[in-house]
Amino acid sequence: MHPTFATPPSFFGLARRDREAPICVAGVPFDIGTSNRPGARFGPFAIRHASRMLLDGEHPASWSDPTRLPLADIGDFRIALGDVQASLRLIDRQADGLSHLITLGGDHSVTLPLLRALSRRLGPVGLIHFDAHVDTWPDSFGQTYGHGSPFFHAINEKLIDPRRTIQVGIRSPMQRGVYDWTVGKGVTIVPAMAVHEEGPAAVAARIRAVVGDGPVYLSFDIDALDPAFAPGTGTPEVGGLASWQAQAILRRLSGLAFAGMDVVEVAPAYDVAEVTALAAATVVWEYLALLAQARQWPEGPASGEPAATAR
Ligand code: MN
Ligand code: MN
Repeated sequence: MHPTFATPPSFFGLARRDREAPICVAGVPFDIGTSNRPGARFGPFAIRHASRMLLDGEHPASWSDPTRLPLADIGDFRIALGDVQASLRLIDRQADGLSHLITLGGDHSVTLPLLRALSRRLGPVGLIHFDAHVDTWPDSFGQTYGHGSPFFHAINEKLIDPRRTIQVGIRSPMQRGVYDWTVGKGVTIVPAMAVHEEGPAAVAARIRAVVGDGPVYLSFDIDALDPAFAPGTGTPEVGGLASWQAQAILRRLSGLAFAGMDVVEVAPAYDVAEVTALAAATVVWEYLALLAQARQWPEGPASGEPAATAR
């Protein structure tokens, strides 16, 4: 076991790299779908680097151990440099056939091909979407595909079930028509202010009620957090969640049928002291803690060292 600072900079310091692992972590260094500040192509590296802080022990609330899950870091997906649509096709193809995928973005455009790949296997899934933005614009400043429109397409392509979709942390300026379209499709919107006023327990209860028992995907745009907690992102909006609020919500979601997740929009060039990257790595760690509680996983080496016991 290396000390934190000397752990290899894969996710969790993982040595395992194979796509056959029950849970795969992949980076998607894609940011040409951004509408404001680019830089999320460097997100996967920063999140992996920060994730090494989370290796040293069990989860202090659930006492599950994310590091003992059968995880592999399969590296970064290839993208088509400068070509949004070709990149989305490549991402879809590389996500295909993985049994459980955790993706480190990249801007939010990448969630669309990830959901295309997932829904081929599972049909329309439920969605828990943390974000400052609804991301249901019909286009991104005239471009059909971009980080403002993944869920517009996901709803239209029936990749997600809008009645099992909930968005948490919403607060950006938006056109009333975009809001009305989203709610009209059946999506539940929980503004950031509702998180502050109602508290994490009430929000978690709403999430559980909306997504129910079917397969559900978690998409966590780091700009759901307040810029005080996540400055390193492309489209910050004030009034967002504190890191602890996101954790308090996530910790109340055990037992849901999670089918995969992503954390997106980490742009390290605007970060301070790795705070955004660490927040993103911690979101993944909270998700893994839920997986570790959820069911029996096959035994496998996690940190590149032998697993001590079968779980
Ligand atoms: Mn987003
Ligand atoms: Mn956003």
